Amino acid sequence: MNNTEDATARKWSIDWTNSLFLLGYHLLLLALLPYYIIVADASASLIWGTVALGALCLLAITMGYHRLYAHKTYKVHPAIEAVLGFWGTLATEGSIFSWAHDHRMHHRHVDSELDPYSAPDGFWHSHMLWMLKKRPELNKRVIHDLIERPALQFQSKYYQYLMVAANAIAFLGLWAFTGDLLGSFVVGTLVRMFFVHHCTWFINSLAHMWGSKPYSTEHTSVNNFVLSFFTFGEGYHNYHHTFAGDYRNGVRWYQFDPPKYVIWFLSKLGLAYDLKKVNHLTIKRKLVAADRHLMMARIQELSHKIDHEAWMQRIEDAATSLTQNLNILKTASDKYQRMKDLRDEEVELLQAKIADLKKRVSQEMDAWTTMVRFVMKSSDASFALALS
Ligand SMILES: [Zn+2]
Ligand SMILES: [Zn+2]
Repeated sequence: MNNTEDATARKWSIDWTNSLFLLGYHLLLLALLPYYIIVADASASLIWGTVALGALCLLAITMGYHRLYAHKTYKVHPAIEAVLGFWGTLATEGSIFSWAHDHRMHHRHVDSELDPYSAPDGFWHSHMLWMLKKRPELNKRVIHDLIERPALQFQSKYYQYLMVAANAIAFLGLWAFTGDLLGSFVVGTLVRMFFVHHCTWFINSLAHMWGSKPYSTEHTSVNNFVLSFFTFGEGYHNYHHTFAGDYRNGVRWYQFDPPKYVIWFLSKLGLAYDLKKVNHLTIKRKLVAADRHLMMARIQELSHKIDHEAWMQRIEDAATSLTQNLNILKTASDKYQRMKDLRDEEVELLQAKIADLKKRVSQEMDAWTTMVRFVMKSSDASFALALS
């Protein structure tokens, strides 16, 4: 059976374990939450305890399952790994092996039939319906690096028991903390699981539908800062699909991305290391390429009254010049990093060249930004005037 036939066959078989579990706890929540609201008053300690549990689960999924295991964007001390393992298991999103496998397939085959949560198949498919379909056996080659590790083998082999145990510990802990047995189950377990699940699933659904594409236009992933609040920093998904090897998703310091701050903080304590980061000039070059693509598409959409060819040439010239200068600056900066300790005449000349290049790139970048703003927002009439 080839891949296409295999994918078609899968549409018709249901994963009963996943389906019954997901449907079952949603129904249980639907029945018990109104009952709990009527018969009891949720205490502040129950609400804050649940928020803390949920936040730690989301952090472990984004920081552990996603950035540590699926993408290997940094390394971490075994003690931190154990903590992330506990909270990631509590999140009830499958074993590290299955999660990382599906996620690597998503990146490798994004938007295609082999992407487990392919966004072009619709919101509900990418959000949760894909989990109700029977999946083929894990392809061990996709996660061969993870399979080698005994601790991860253990988590995968005993996942179901560990997941139940982690949830039991969280439930008992919250019950001891609040004294509210029913609340700890309905709010602390079911509501918490509901929020953690749907917030994670938004990354596969909404973060491929609702937002902008500043870094890559060739796939459905988008950047959306609103989503980054619900997904614990994973809302900068267009950046992530463009540079999946970066430990950050929100690449600017002010972009809300809790795992980024925690990983950075742990690195300062010596508990995380080998943090992988894409060079800012490489990021800028990709931004220019994506802008160029968007502007060309916009020019094609405009009426015949404007001089399409002249505008396209103008965009092409500006993009080529800016990209070339970014490349030269990157090469010079890399060379400077290798030579900076020498302190000879050549290094001084290189410093002067870099300063000059930075000024030129900054001016071209300003002009480029102005052009992007104009092309993407102006009317036909403004275009005709602008070129004359
Ligand atoms: Zn994605
Ligand atoms: Zn990813």
